[in-house]
Parts: sequence; C-alpha cells; structure tokens
Amino acid sequence: RYRALSQPGRIGSLTLPHRVLMGSMHMGLEGQPDKLGQLCDFYRERAEGMAALIITGGAAVTQAGGADHMYVLTEDADVEALASLPQAVHEVNGKIALQLFHSGRYAFADEIGMQPVAPSPIASRLTREVPREMTDEDIADTILAFAQGARRAMDVGYDAVEIMGSEGYLLNQFLSPLTNHREDEYGGSFERRMRMSLDVVQAIRRAVGAQYPIIFRMSGLDCMPGSTTPEETIAFAKALQEAGVDALNIGIGWHEARVPTVQQIVPRGGFATIAGTIRGHVSIPVIGANRLNVPEVADALVADGYLDFIAPARPWLADSQLARKVVEGDRAGLNVCIACNQSCLDHTLVRPHLPVSCLVNPRAGQEASWPVVEAPAKRRVAVVGAGPAGLQAAVTAAQRGHDVVLFEREAEIGGQFRMAARIPGKDEFYETIRYFREMLERLSVTVKMQTEPTPDELSMFDHVVIAQGVVPRVPEIRGTDLPHVVTYAQVLNGEVQVGRQIAIIGAGGIGCDVATFLAEGSHAPADVQAFFALQSLPTPPAMPREITVLARSDRYGHGIGRSTRWVVKQEMNRLGIRVVTNVDFREITPEGVRITSPDGDVFVKADQVILCAGQEAHETLAEALKGKVAVHVVGGARDSRGINAARAIREAFEVAYQI
Ligand code: SF4
Repeated sequence: RYRALSQPGRIGSLTLPHRVLMGSMHMGLEGQPDKLGQLCDFYRERAEGMAALIITGGAAVTQAGGADHMYVLTEDADVEALASLPQAVHEVNGKIALQLFHSGRYAFADEIGMQPVAPSPIASRLTREVPREMTDEDIADTILAFAQGARRAMDVGYDAVEIMGSEGYLLNQFLSPLTNHREDEYGGSFERRMRMSLDVVQAIRRAVGAQYPIIFRMSGLDCMPGSTTPEETIAFAKALQEAGVDALNIGIGWHEARVPTVQQIVPRGGFATIAGTIRGHVSIPVIGANRLNVPEVADALVADGYLDFIAPARPWLADSQLARKVVEGDRAGLNVCIACNQSCLDHTLVRPHLPVSCLVNPRAGQEASWPVVEAPAKRRVAVVGAGPAGLQAAVTAAQRGHDVVLFEREAEIGGQFRMAARIPGKDEFYETIRYFREMLERLSVTVKMQTEPTPDELSMFDHVVIAQGVVPRVPEIRGTDLPHVVTYAQVLNGEVQVGRQIAIIGAGGIGCDVATFLAEGSHAPADVQAFFALQSLPTPPAMPREITVLARSDRYGHGIGRSTRWVVKQEMNRLGIRVVTNVDFREITPEGVRITSPDGDVFVKADQVILCAGQEAHETLAEALKGKVAVHVVGGARDSRGINAARAIREAFEVAYQI
C-alpha cells in the first residue's frame, strides 16, 4: 500500500480522496467535433480509474493563444463542446479542471491564422517566428480573456481551473528576462515581470468568486540560461499564493530548453527537489509531475514532504487505472509509462499533429473503439514469439477470453525490448516485460519457453498469430563474413566480447544506441566508482573505446522520435562518439573499414565492426500453415521496413482484438 499517496487532500474548497491527479495533456482530439466522443471516453475511463482530479489539455483563452486543434474559450461552440467533458467525468463521480492556456510566442502563425503575440518580439527556437509585441490593449484583453474563460469553465461544470504559466508559454514569457524586454509596467524589474501572471490570477478570482479552486502551473526551473532565478521563483510562488491561488503545480523546463526533462535519461523523481524547495516557502499545496511514473518513488516524495500531490500525465496513457492500482497497492498490475515518448509526445511534435496514444497501451485515446469486452466465441489461439508484439497479442487475446498458448524459442520473454533495456537510460523497458509477465500469469496464458512449434502442432489451433520479429540485416559489403564482424544483437545479448576500437555500420536508432551502450560501458560501473570515492581513492581510470558510427546518409539518429533524438545526439557528443555521414562502404578488412566519405577515401581502423544496418523479417511459419488454420502475421515478421515497437505492438493488439 502507498500510504502517503492514499491520504485524502484538499485544493482550496475541493476535497480529494487521495493524492494522484492526472496532469494536463493535449490529446490531438480537441477542437474536432467528430472526436469529442473519443475525448469524453478517454477522460471518463481515467475518472473510473480513480484520478482524484483530471486536468484537461489546454483550452486557449483567445484565438491568438491557441494551436492547431485546440478549443478556444471565446467560441460558443467550443465552450459547448467542452461542457461534455465534465458531464462525462461527473457521470462516474470524477472531478475535472480545465487548463486555461495561452501559447504566446510558441504559437505557429499558420495554425492560429495571425502573427503570434508575446511580451517582446523575440523568436523562439521552437517556431523560429518573430511574434508581435503585445500592446496595452492586447494585455488588457488577454487578462480579461483568462477571467472570462475561467468563468465559462465554471459555468459549464468544471470543478477547478488550472492557469498554464510554465513550459515557456505566455505567462512564463512575461516572467522571464529572456523574453520580456518591455519597459512599461509589465516589464523591467522582477516585480513588473510578475505582474501579468498576478493580474490574471486576480481577474480570475474576481470572476469565479472566493471558493472556486484555482491552480497555477508555474515553472520551477526554466532550464534556460539567464532566465528567472531560483530566488525569483520562490518570490513568485509566494506572490501567487497571496494573489489567491489554491495550489501550485510545478512545471520543469521550457519547450525550447536543451535539458532533458521527460526522457528516460531523467532519473525517476529527479526534479522533485525543485518542487520541494518551493513547498518550503508556501502554505498552499504543491503538485509535482516530471518522471513520477512509479508509485514507490512518488509515495516517498509525498511522505518526505517534497510534494502534496502528484499529477503525472503520460502514466495515465499507459494505464487508465493508475490511481486505482496505487490506492489498492497493485504495483504488479501497473502498466508503467516507460518515458519513450514514441506514441505520445512525438505525435504532438510532428506537423500535422497525430492523435496521442501510447506504445505500451494502444487503446489509449481510442477507448470506445476497443472496449474491454469478451469475444463472442472462445477460440484456441497460438502466438509464436514472445517479443513485444507476441506478448501484446497473447495478453489481448487472453483478455478477450480465448485460450492462449504462447511459444518462445529463447529462454526469456521480451525479444527486442530485452535488448533495448540494456542501453543506458533505457532500463524502463524491463517494466513492460515485467508487466506482460504478470498479465500472462493472471490471464492463465500457457507459456512454452525454448519451444519452436511445428506446423502440425499449430494447425490444431483455431488461430495462429505469428510474431517472430526480426533479425539483424547483413548489408552487402565485402568482408561481412570476417570473424570480427558482429551484429548489434550479438553485442546487446552479450554473445561476443567487445573490442576497443569499434566501427558501427548504420546510424539509425539502433546504431546510436549501441554506440552509447559501448561508450558508457568503457567506464567503471557506478558502484565501483562509489566504492573508490568512499575509500578516498581516485576514480578508476576509464578505458575509453574509440567508437566511429558510419552513416550512409547525411544524417544520423533517424528513427528516433523528435522529443528524444536531440538528447541521444547530445549524449553521443558528450561521450566522444565520432560520426561520419555520407559514407560509401568499400569493404571491411581485418583491420577496419574502407569507406569513401566527402573527405575522399578513408580507412577507419577497427578491431571490431558492428552491423546496425536495419532488420529483416524472421523466417516465419506462415507459408507452411496456409490453408490449415487462420494465420495472422504481425509486426516486424509481417513487414520489417521501418519497424518500431509502437507499430509492432499496435498491430498485434488489433489482430488479437479481432479474433
Ligand atoms: Fe509513456 Fe511511451 Fe506511452 Fe508515451 S508512449 S505514455 S512515453 S509509455
């Protein structure tokens, strides 16, 4: 049981049954009449999952503060649509707050149909567009729009509002000296830079009355050199409390910052000390979020006084029953968000945006299309392969009530996830394997390890799902048969001893991951370093590997989502990994790799060459089963081109659901 998280709490006049809120997320379903039902179902299911309070994705207070597919609170039709969300949530006794949003200089002109506005005309790294400096009239209108938006939210049934004042959006832009160069009463000194936020809070308080709960999402740390200082941040928190805010939700990092804040590389609960410091200076509740994906970490942070509430967002995509499982102490049954961003954040960063879903929970955002109901008839289902796709197929088919047997030729389940988990900063993938293992057991799936079924055995089933995955592709380069040439799978599975001077052929996600894995591995492990430090001995010297990544194209890291690619590249740079792009491979010799690059003919010395040149489908049994049984081939086994875990899992889910 998680005692601290399970305690009731209060935000202003709102009594909440426990400490697990759901943080704001843009779902990519907003502002579209035909998707409203889907959005209601999404929130309703999280309310049924016992979210103490759901905070919606942002609703723009004016058209200028919006984005593609966002509700705008000045539009009657949008407010009418927004009224459906509290109705859906209240039907199942949940509570919901509307987030009041203004993007300022983070708006794209083509999405809002006008030049974006901001405190000062300074382009952002995000949009590269120069906004228009807000006039006195713009400022007054925007304050009024926040107040009217809050009032409308209250009138259509929301239980609270949250003002978005972090992540580098408009109010955060007013606060920071980086983006506020005004010389009027809204710029200059820190007091004047705070004024916009405080005016907004006071105007909202006047519009909604003394009792209505107002949460302010403030930036605890901008992660932008030269921005608001820690002392100013604390002074701002106190001023917000005085202005009438009921709780502070602490955001971390601007969207244009170059510090990882939500990726796997960020330690769990890593930013909670920032919220904890603020909490020490105010008497209203403090809410935290970043990388709070598992209850044991969050519970300790609440128990130790860093936070009053947690408001994770992505973990609610991964598991719609998050709070229920926390309160019931069902950690084993929790489908943990692994911070991969592949089906959530990365979908919002592409243009046009894609609807948000979740790699480990393909139902997320499509709850109505895939209700959890038993299949009309019970079938005997065989699943071949216990990688991510096979595991998903087995679990989904079993959840639908079928008799499922899962075959795996290796001694362990997990497939590509097991390999990925060995990469530094990617050990969250073990959580997904753990979850699947638990589900197989709870759903009584028969698991046959180290077993390769024959076509005759499989033809006894009603349905066979082939999820045998992929094998590394061996490119057509002379010398790939030499003994020092190995595949990424052999390296990650620990099947070969790794060299000191390494050439990696292929610079997609796997090539970059393998390079990072080997570079990190050339330092003494953390526990050895800690031991040396304890004994006051000098840290053992690193035995650095010389690693060169060779890319055929002019870029590297393709295949990694936009939210994470820059973090991986930054890490490769820090680790001194050399990357050569625009490479033509001549041949591999016992001493290295002969290439032609833009610098001419080059010889890259290497005592080991690792092939990370994509994958091809594993040979499957599908052909042999044709005509004997209903066969479904999914994931990389069906099509290895551009395969990723999100697609493999989703395909497996859809196929198994339809049996
Ligand atoms: Fe978490 Fe990845 Fe799912 Fe996003 S896609 S919610 S990061 S597990």
